[in-house]
Amino acid sequence: MPVSPDTFSGAFKPSETIATDITIIGGGIAGLWLLQHLCKLGYNAILLENSALGSDQSVASQGMIHGGIKYTLSGLLTGASEAIADMPEYWRQCLRGEGDVDLRGCKLLSDHFYLWSSANTTSRLSTFFASKATRGRVDKVSGKQLPALLQVPEFKGSVYKLVDMVLDVPSLVHQLAEPLRSRIFQIDWQTAQFQPQSDGSHAIVIGNGARHLLLTSAAMVLTAGRGNGPLLQQLGASSPAMQTRPLQQVLVKHRHPHAFFGHCLGRETTPRVTISSHACGDGSQVWYLGGALAEKGASQSRAELIRCAQREMRELLPWVDLSDAQWATLPVERAEPLQRNFARPDQAYAAWAGNCENVIAAWPTKLTLAPNLSTQIVDLLTKKGIEPTYSSPIILPLETPSMAVPPWQELFGET
Ligand SMILES: Cc1cc2nc3c(=O)[nH]c(=O)nc-3n(C[C@H](O)[C@H](O)[C@H](O)COP(=O)(O)OP(=O)(O)OC[C@H]3O[C@@H](n4cnc5c(N)ncnc54)[C@H](O)[C@@H]3O)c2cc1C
Repeated sequence: MPVSPDTFSGAFKPSETIATDITIIGGGIAGLWLLQHLCKLGYNAILLENSALGSDQSVASQGMIHGGIKYTLSGLLTGASEAIADMPEYWRQCLRGEGDVDLRGCKLLSDHFYLWSSANTTSRLSTFFASKATRGRVDKVSGKQLPALLQVPEFKGSVYKLVDMVLDVPSLVHQLAEPLRSRIFQIDWQTAQFQPQSDGSHAIVIGNGARHLLLTSAAMVLTAGRGNGPLLQQLGASSPAMQTRPLQQVLVKHRHPHAFFGHCLGRETTPRVTISSHACGDGSQVWYLGGALAEKGASQSRAELIRCAQREMRELLPWVDLSDAQWATLPVERAEPLQRNFARPDQAYAAWAGNCENVIAAWPTKLTLAPNLSTQIVDLLTKKGIEPTYSSPIILPLETPSMAVPPWQELFGET
């Protein structure tokens, strides 16, 4: 909502300066997790969001909290697989209310994830999955242990059950934001801008003309996903640089009774297709399709990609009747710190921005790694001597942003 200069005539005098310990910019999973963590430590922190909370990547994600097995499809443990191995258990503690952040109330869509192959593509992996390296993270399943979708005579492949789990991301965003609503504000950059200060730090001026408010912070943390690039540019930061990786996800709304959460292995090291399931209010469900299908699909037209997805489903799950299904696609970008050769980063990333005394730029690179990102940011603050002040929360004359609507709801109407 735009902020008119008149907004400032009530609570604040013109040109008032308000100081806070930390200002977080961007209310996806990274910013919301960080806000919870910082407030718990006693920092006086606020979050500014320019759209709806969880927009862009977070609510468009598949919600999988994974332990890295998806990154071992070459038959080897990798940096990515090991960086993330302990995360499902960490998140489970939070879901039980025993972790650093209380996630009781967040909806668990599935407490497991499957990896399946329709042909012989797992032979290379079966020895590896049976080895010590992956013990406790992967179990081969068969017969009655198979997921309902694959318990049909036509299915001939191998199936592995992973410790990974799947969260309902809209409920995660809600659970993180709700207790801290008074610290979360809608920012409209048409009436707000960064202002360099004489000590080399940056503040934010909110409002127009003579009536404005100066918001200063010991640190500003950019957790705006793909918004970090333009924000760093506005700040004149010399580093870090950002990369985006485009995807085009496919959504299929249908009445097949079984939900499914799993990767189908192909011949490549990226899953051929990754399926997560999202219930609709009318009794149907949406299968949300990612993996190589969505990576290759980024350069395809919507119609072309839907034809590919239909072919994949016929080939992989020929017993599932999708003749009445509704199909849609979602172009979306993953935002990450720039990597050599445009590689997929293994870990969460946070660093002080070059030329900006008090600005940290951060990308979790995966929903799963939001807690690690938050820990890295607190380390950066502590090393720079930025300690919690335990001061009272500040109030800005700005609205509270709404929650983002998930793509399956947006594309197929109310569910
Ligand atoms: C299709 C897809 C599937 C995925 N599936 C998984 C998965 O299953 N498991 C997993 O671990 N990871 C997954 N990921 C990755 C994961 O979603 C992201 O790493 C994570 O959500 C990034 O969170 P974020 O908070 O950094 O950014 P975002 O979720 O992109 O949030 C950025 C926020 O900042 C706001 N913003 C932007 N610009 C500004 C600005 N100028 N001022 C103020 N606010 C601003 C946006 O409106 C938004 O609310 C997936 C990603 C995609 C795209």
